[in-house]
Amino acid sequence: MPAPAPFDYPIDQVKGFLDPAEGEALYNAAYDAAPFGPILEVGSYCGKSTVYLGKAAAQQNGQVYALDHHRGSEEHQRGEGYHDPELFDNEIERMDSLPYFRRAIFRAGLEGTVVPLVADSGTMARFWQTPLAMLFIDGGHSLEQALTDWRSWAHHVRVGGTLCIHDIFENPDEGGQAPYTIYKHAIASGLFEDVARVKTLGVLRRV
Ligand code: MG
Repeated sequence: MPAPAPFDYPIDQVKGFLDPAEGEALYNAAYDAAPFGPILEVGSYCGKSTVYLGKAAAQQNGQVYALDHHRGSEEHQRGEGYHDPELFDNEIERMDSLPYFRRAIFRAGLEGTVVPLVADSGTMARFWQTPLAMLFIDGGHSLEQALTDWRSWAHHVRVGGTLCIHDIFENPDEGGQAPYTIYKHAIASGLFEDVARVKTLGVLRRV
């Protein structure tokens, strides 16, 4: 069943790095997946992708777990290329995207759909048991972090479920290779097949 028309929400006002075409692809994937179980996002940052996932899930009475330690990935830290001083907590000298994330979810009317999980990926996964209808990996882009996200969460995707990976760059001149590496792991594992690619967003299905 095709998803309803794109929702009415000023998504441009949410900080983030998701292309609108990628957002729409996430929205459609989430709409299809939501009736079969929860959706888990790794790496929510300020909630842009979470709003796309949440808006789709809400239409299906579904649920989204939005996992992020909200301390920023490597590239968000002070002195790095994607640092945003507005997200810096000067009192403890750490990044904190949680207030922005909560505002975005509140304004989108998604507090009943999106459950924030404030922890790092490996910690959250330790005792996790719930099968996932959809997993979206968009966490830290160091190889170590991307591999942790893959190893922690991919096996929870139910058969027939969806795995999305953001920031896949086949050409190393265009971007970091960690997301592409876990994409290749997913295909090589035999557990996932390629379904679609929208810009840098890979859509795979658990077989
Ligand atoms: Mg990303």
